[in-house]
Amino acid sequence: MSSVLAIAIDTPLRQLFDYLPPAGIDGSALQPGCRLWVPFGRRRVVGLLVETRERSELPAHRLKAAAALIDDAPVLDPRLLDLLRWSADYYRHPLGEVLAAALPAALRAGQGAHASEERWALTAAARTGSLPELAARASRLRDLAEWLGARDSGSATELASLSPRWRDHLRELEKRGWVIRLRQDVATQPYGTVPAATRVAGPPLAPEQAEAVAAIESAQGTFASFLLHGVTGSGKTEVYLRAIEGVVGRGAQALVLVPEIALTPQLVGRFAERFAAPLAVLHSSLTDQERLRAWRAARSGFAPVVIGTRSAIFAPLARPGLIVVDEEHDHSYKQQEGFRYSARDLALVRAQRLAIPVVLGSATPSLESLERVHAGRSRRLSLPNRAGGARPPQLHLIDLRRHAETQGIATPTVLAIKQHLDGGGQVLLYLNRRGYAPSLFCPACGWVAPCPRCDARLTVHQRERALHCHHCGTHQAVPETCPQCFEPVKPVGQGTERIEETLGRLFPDVPLARIDRDAVRRRGALEEVIERIHRGEVRLLVGTQMLTKGHHFPDVSLVVVLNADQGLFGTDFRASERLAQTIVQVAGRAGRAGRPGEVLIQTEYPEHPLLTQLVTGGYDAFAAAALAERREAAWPPYARIAVLRAEATGRAVPLEFLDQARDLALACAEPGIELLGPAAAPMERRAGHYRAQLLLHGPSHAPLQRLFSRWLPQVEALPTARKVRWSLDVDPLELF
Ligand code: ADP
Ligand code: ZN
Ligand code: ZN
Repeated sequence: MSSVLAIAIDTPLRQLFDYLPPAGIDGSALQPGCRLWVPFGRRRVVGLLVETRERSELPAHRLKAAAALIDDAPVLDPRLLDLLRWSADYYRHPLGEVLAAALPAALRAGQGAHASEERWALTAAARTGSLPELAARASRLRDLAEWLGARDSGSATELASLSPRWRDHLRELEKRGWVIRLRQDVATQPYGTVPAATRVAGPPLAPEQAEAVAAIESAQGTFASFLLHGVTGSGKTEVYLRAIEGVVGRGAQALVLVPEIALTPQLVGRFAERFAAPLAVLHSSLTDQERLRAWRAARSGFAPVVIGTRSAIFAPLARPGLIVVDEEHDHSYKQQEGFRYSARDLALVRAQRLAIPVVLGSATPSLESLERVHAGRSRRLSLPNRAGGARPPQLHLIDLRRHAETQGIATPTVLAIKQHLDGGGQVLLYLNRRGYAPSLFCPACGWVAPCPRCDARLTVHQRERALHCHHCGTHQAVPETCPQCFEPVKPVGQGTERIEETLGRLFPDVPLARIDRDAVRRRGALEEVIERIHRGEVRLLVGTQMLTKGHHFPDVSLVVVLNADQGLFGTDFRASERLAQTIVQVAGRAGRAGRPGEVLIQTEYPEHPLLTQLVTGGYDAFAAAALAERREAAWPPYARIAVLRAEATGRAVPLEFLDQARDLALACAEPGIELLGPAAAPMERRAGHYRAQLLLHGPSHAPLQRLFSRWLPQVEALPTARKVRWSLDVDPLELF
């Protein structure tokens, strides 16, 4: 009897699809993880074989044959396929979409997984030798050699873009022993053939760094989870680099995850100069072909170091040896739509299943990761000191109620800025609000410019003379007068654009830069500003969250948090954790490289415990208090939660659907599960949709998972389910 192929297809349907093998192919010989072309409705789509079965539930006449086999070997190896099946199960997301998330678009479109590509590299001799020997007359040769010298290797396409006669030049260089041809096949050749002359040695390690590296080394080949906890600038990246050197030296691969915004050319450069072998870099702005190339290099083992953002957690690895998650507290590791996974959490799962160590690093660890340490499931490696002996910054609170202010900058703050500028330092001001002012207000009648599609106010963007909604993207011209009473209107409150303007007035001779999404929209613009800051051409900088991630500004001696109060009374149970992390991360930009730093936090609530804890006891004091509160209130990490969300263009339907879902959940009578809500979202209407949520709370994950198995099929079958857009978020980070 011929076997039946159970195939995953990229659709929101929570099922596999049965097919007969393509004509002339023995189905039982096919391996899971291979792609096939299959007829699906009127289309022909790429499906992925998940398992073969003896028979199908479908009647024989409805069983179609797959059209063709695409791969002769699985594109997803059994361990990765298992991880993805586990993830689909855990996050209750359709397997077809989960698998699609793990494959580059080019493979989802049916392109071949293997590449046979020629590449060329400078030989070790050429790298250490003197290129000037190539006389000036051979300038084309020289250009080519220098281009190759600046990277690991080049492909035909890349080299052809340098010179139309590149093949002649290469032949010439090959004759002199300057260049070697690396390999024919990306998918199978190991990286060992790359010359090892470019490797740069790191600095000698501080004792705590050496201890951390030794601990990670000693765990090789077993599952162990480490929390590398060190203030910004304490040398965490150096520890990763050293641990990875060990891994690469043994011929294994390391996977490094970084937050979206932190994957800068500087960071990649730091890795690239350490490792002679090629890096596979995976992030969201690659072209399909770039992504495919990096994916292949990871899968074949050609790249011993794979570095990427969230979805790189699903990068295939030929010889996995270590996983690193930098800035593990960062929320960009959680996918907030579609397949809502946490790459940080999956890093732990993947490392455990592969029996390799995993290192989570942060200056401000998530409460989840700290709790894992307390429970003995993770080992903390501390780097208490800054590299190079820089002292930690001093935090001070500035009471906004007691001091006069100039457009959001209190007088003592202005004086401190002046003092630091006079002393030759750079000053960084942080405000998590882009635009000119958060609202446009009519003093005569009280009108505030609303977003027509959201329960939100429009932000004033002065330079563009426009009002923007930061939730749905609505744009409008700024009205001259109030549409209600025709009196003049005025912007109220502070955004980064207005702070920039105020600083320009207060310090007219000091060069100034703003860093936020509006200011650095153009590709490469952020890099340019950061370069200017490093060269000391900018003395004052104002910016949003963007400033807090991954950038090192060694000359910044004063950091100002312009408004700490936005997060103090948030409705979300994680609001205070997020605020503490942000303050400590921003503060960490001050006073590196031996320059003592000062941090001013402006607030109207200087006696708020969160702020006083941070000032007197630092992040550890905050975290201890926050964990005690979470334990008391039985919130994560001392409980598990999930959120069922629904939205629709009408207000009533989402709540009706969630009410019915709640009744179904109650009928399941799973012990220990509590239901909260349904309730409308704090900002109920967004982009014309009304939103509501039902919170599920359980003592641990097992009862929640048991509930999901029985409950979700019933939820899916509700007639109201078809009238709303709904989703389940397991371990949500934000409750809207
Ligand atoms: P983090 O990742 O914790 O912010 P980094 O690893 O980037 O810290 O280190 C901060 C700075 O200190 C970098 O410029 C790095 O090169 C330097 N550094 C790190 N470790 C050492 C060391 N052991 N000796 C000298 N400099 C070091
Ligand atoms: Zn008015
Ligand atoms: Zn809006």
